[in-house]
Amino acid sequence: MVGSATSLVTPGYINAHQHLTGDRLIASCIPDAITSNEAIFDWAVPIHSMHSADDDELSATLASVAGLINGVTCTVEAGTVAHAQRVAAAAAATGMRVMLGTWGWDAPDVPFGGSVGEIIDRQRAVVEQFPVGSGLVEGWVSLVGHDLVSDELFVAAAELAREHGTRLTFHMSPHAGDPAAFAAAGRQRPLVHLHGLGVLGDNALIAHAVHLDDAEIDALIDSGAAVAACPWAYLRLAQGVTTAGRYADLWRRDARLAVGCDAENAGDAVDVLRSAALLAGLCRDGASDPFLFTADDALAVATCRGAAAIGAAARLGSLTIGRQADIVVHEREAVQFSPLASDPVRQLIWSSDGRSVSDVFVAGRRVVADRVCTTVDLVAVRQAAAERGRWMLAQLRR
Ligand SMILES: [Zn+2]
Repeated sequence: MVGSATSLVTPGYINAHQHLTGDRLIASCIPDAITSNEAIFDWAVPIHSMHSADDDELSATLASVAGLINGVTCTVEAGTVAHAQRVAAAAAATGMRVMLGTWGWDAPDVPFGGSVGEIIDRQRAVVEQFPVGSGLVEGWVSLVGHDLVSDELFVAAAELAREHGTRLTFHMSPHAGDPAAFAAAGRQRPLVHLHGLGVLGDNALIAHAVHLDDAEIDALIDSGAAVAACPWAYLRLAQGVTTAGRYADLWRRDARLAVGCDAENAGDAVDVLRSAALLAGLCRDGASDPFLFTADDALAVATCRGAAAIGAAARLGSLTIGRQADIVVHEREAVQFSPLASDPVRQLIWSSDGRSVSDVFVAGRRVVADRVCTTVDLVAVRQAAAERGRWMLAQLRR
């Protein structure tokens, strides 16, 4: 039997932006006292470029387990996977539902870069192998984004996603550097520019979109594109969300918002409830508005609104007949639930997080039982990850 008289049952949580490979094998090892550009280009990118196919599967396995035990049942991979087949294998083994693309950028001298044609061919192979709705893994078109992708590649990727009835995701403006780079290149603000190219649409999921001006918010709303907000990452990396973030404005305009946890050297914890509560707090405090973004709203971005933002509301995000059986059970015997509040959602969001998850089902399969992931040998996975992580860090220090 699952649960008890005090259990709380919710839909599975949607993590709309997570790097499943790379960071996990050196989790929390990137120093705090460096710039986000240094964190990316002196650490994350070199670590990624060292990854073998085995490392990709190992990293994705561990990252998936880290999410599952916190109630995450669906992960949108952030677009930095070199070996998509191996990440799909990790999804199948762990039971995590994954929206998966492959590495896509055409900047000069970058690992896993390529011409527009090469990148599109790679992306096409993934979306054709994993059609939408066919199983746990769904092929998406994923670009690194920022100012590291040409207009030609952005446009071709958007066309590919539309042709295959799938989605496009990319990074944009977690920091002020992206609008500055677009301006330096003589282009309009990033989202205005991309909307003008026809890249934004209701099948686009933009990771971050922190530094937006009014015209970009209009472009976002007009296009119907969704945003994956990863608030822990911006705080951890000092990217300016408390001073420049526009999420309260996006929320007021009914933008399609989801939350993500980003990477283990940015947001660190793969816990969507923790991110959703933080996003709620940032919006409420930023707008000095206690009526904005309540605990119910935080649970919604983690579940039904998150599912809508990734185009999966007909299958995920609610406990309804006809939806996938992605279900989370919280055990409320822990002290953070004592005494039990009359409003279970308020207590869940403000007093707890993924640590109170006891059982998780994905597509009806029990993947976490009594707080333990049942699908993989976690001792062996942790040991392998520690060995590979040490090796990678040693290479970096050479
Ligand atoms: Zn990212």
